[in-house]
Amino acid sequence: MGILLIEDEPRIRAFIARGLGAEGFTVDETDDGQVGLRRALDEQYDLVILDLGLPSLDGLSVLEALSRQRPQVPVLVLSARSDPRTRLAAFTLGAYAYLEKPFAFDDLLARVRLQGGRGAETAFETSAG
Ligand code: CA
Repeated sequence: MGILLIEDEPRIRAFIARGLGAEGFTVDETDDGQVGLRRALDEQYDLVILDLGLPSLDGLSVLEALSRQRPQVPVLVLSARSDPRTRLAAFTLGAYAYLEKPFAFDDLLARVRLQGGRGAETAFETSAG
């Protein structure tokens, strides 16, 4: 599973990339919103992990463009902003998950794996209904 990680804080980026790499995921990294959007559009990723506070293009703008042009690519948003309006904006713009910093790595991993098993999730929802 190929993951694009767009995060400008080196410590958090390294923490995520190292952890997901150890779990067997392929992780590409960038610290810039504009560059991240370009790569997400040009390449085939199974998942994008997106910080909101980014240089050159903020995360919500990246999310908006990505949802419009690549609606099939799931986006997991990371944010230090805990206000409900930002969270709502992220979901409205198409994020499937929103994780507030600081977070435990296992919480991130659970959400990443949730996307890996999207079919199972759909089956569960169907049987539960
Ligand atoms: Ca940031």
